[in-house]
Parts: sequence; C-alpha cells; structure tokens
Amino acid sequence: MKIISFVLPAYNEEKNIPLIFKAIQEQFEGTPYGYEIVFIDDASSDDTLGAIKRLAKQHPEARYVSFSRNFGKEAAILAGLQHVTGDASIIMDTDLQHPPTLIKQMVAGYEEGYDQVIAKRDRTGESGLRKLASQTYYTLINKIVDIELEDGVGDFRLLSRDAIDAILRMNENQRFSKGLFSWIGMEQKIITYQNVLRQNGETKWSFRQLFNYGVDGLISFNSKPLRFCFFTGVSILVLSMLYILFTLFGIIQDGVETPGYFTLISAILLLGGIQLVSLGIIGEYVGRIYFETKQRPAYLIQETNMQRKSVNEQSEGRVYKIHRHRGN
Ligand code: UDP
Ligand code: MG
Repeated sequence: MKIISFVLPAYNEEKNIPLIFKAIQEQFEGTPYGYEIVFIDDASSDDTLGAIKRLAKQHPEARYVSFSRNFGKEAAILAGLQHVTGDASIIMDTDLQHPPTLIKQMVAGYEEGYDQVIAKRDRTGESGLRKLASQTYYTLINKIVDIELEDGVGDFRLLSRDAIDAILRMNENQRFSKGLFSWIGMEQKIITYQNVLRQNGETKWSFRQLFNYGVDGLISFNSKPLRFCFFTGVSILVLSMLYILFTLFGIIQDGVETPGYFTLISAILLLGGIQLVSLGIIGEYVGRIYFETKQRPAYLIQETNMQRKSVNEQSEGRVYKIHRHRGN
C-alpha cells in the first residue's frame, strides 16, 4: 500500500486541527492509499499542540513534531519533510485555505509519474493592494532571478520521494521553499483552484513580513544585485572621469569661472546615495554568509511522537532533540 504523507505547519491553529484532519481523512475513504498526517506545531501559544495530541490518541495516522520556539513556516516545512515516511508528501496549510478536495487530483498526478504536482491558486477575494504588490513583485523578480517564480504557486504541492530527497539535499539554513521547489525542476504538473478565504484564526503575515519574504526571494537565488552595484559604480566612475576631463579642459582654455557649488553638492549626494545602496546590498549577502557559516540547526524539537528517519547524510546532525517535556 502506498502511503501519502501530509506536512502541515501549524501556528495557533487550534480550531483548524480537527477540521483539517477530518477533511483529509474523508478524501481517503475507499481509496487504496494509506496516509500519515504530520503536524508541525511551530510553538503555538494557543492549544494547537493539545488538539493534535488528542487526535493522535485516537488516530495513529496523526503525528506531530513540536518546536521549542517559533521558527517560522519554512523551518516547519523542512522539519515535516525530514520526518515523513511515505512514498509521496503533500504540503498544505493547516488553515483550510488549501482545499483538501484537490488531494485526489494531486495523487492522480503522482500516479501519472509526476514528481511535483503543484496547486496554483488565483487571487479571488484578496485586497487590491496586496494583489497589486504581488503582481508587480513577480513581474520584477522573474526579470532578475535565475529560476522561474510564478504568482499563485506556493508550498501547496505534492512531492514524490525523489523530489523530497532532492529538497532535503539542499542544506541552506535560510530557506526560500518556493525557490527551492522551482530549482529542483523534475516533472511537474499544475492544477489550478480558486482562492479560499481563511476560516478560523488570522493570517500571520504582516505587510512587513511579506516585504522581507520578497527580499529573501530576490537574494536567495542570484547575485545579480551585486553585479548591478558593480555596473552602476563603473558607469558613475566613467561619467565622472569624462566630466573631470571636460571641466579641466575648460579651465585650461578659459580659466576658473563660478565656484561650482551646485555641481559639487549634487555629485556628493548622488555618489553618497549610490554607495549606501551598494553597501546595503553587499551587507544583505554578507549577513547571509554570516548566518550560513554558523551552521545552526533550522529548528529545535521540543517533543514529537515520530522517529526521525535519516534521509541523507548531509542533513544528518542538523536536528537536535531536546529531551525535556512540556507540561501538557
Ligand atoms: N505558520 C507557521 N509558522 C508561522 C506562521 C505560520 O507554521 O510562524 C503556518 C500557519 O499555521 C499556516 C501556514 O503556515 O498553516 C500559512 O500561514 P498563514 O495562513 O498565516 O499565511 P497566509 O495563508 O496568510 O499566507
Ligand atoms: Mg493562510
């Protein structure tokens, strides 16, 4: 029997836990597949973990990994993929925004031999500002980065065992999953669905976080911004040299005229600005190198009812288990 493993990152989703579990369960009634549902509790402050544990008592398919603090959704996805034991894995949000009714189509795609079956959503019901921001972002970013990033395509997807292993071979700490999924390539099928509004709880993304996520996407997959700094620098240098020669020639011919206050101040401001921007961009990359060299684990586990399967040697040793238990 083939097993489909679900990876469900959950942060303050106590009400949604039983709902999503039931919804997934229903999809498997009368099918020849087995399933396991792995919740990754990202150190929720509500009773998410309690809700998962109550489920796990009754259903052996309900499994969980609970983090020692909030490490974010990216870390949760990584933890999930490192723990799943099935033949394929479906990553989806716990808030029911990723319709479980697509599961059958996704599994069918997997049986057709696709390594990634991607669920793509439209943007019905989103605020105009957010829609516009994301559209502009994707148009811009695809001009810059070396991989293809598509609007409406996110983490909601099925990955074959080969695809899971490929993802886990990428050891980077600051993960931008959307980019990683695109980077591994492999056979892909896209299914589209209509955007669903969140039912319980609220979104954890503020505009600032979305902005940071955008910068991550830009920086993680290319070094073009660095080159942009270099070219701007070179152009400015050439232009100023021409200007200096031109002025010098003028001085030799006609002698010094007005003291060039305006030109001087504009040159200083312009160059100062360009230098600060360039430094900022370089700083972004240096910062990333700094964090990557620390080789810190992407998350710490507080408690789990799963055995960690060693998927490959490279990711080995990056997960530490804390043998201390929380009160409940
Ligand atoms: N999530 C998480 N850790 C976080 C924030 C969110 O595991 O720090 C989970 C959350 O429980 C949900 C999914 O990631 O299952 C998507 O989060 P959210 O619904 O807030 O994002 P949106 O749908 O608004 O993009
Ligand atoms: Mg959501």
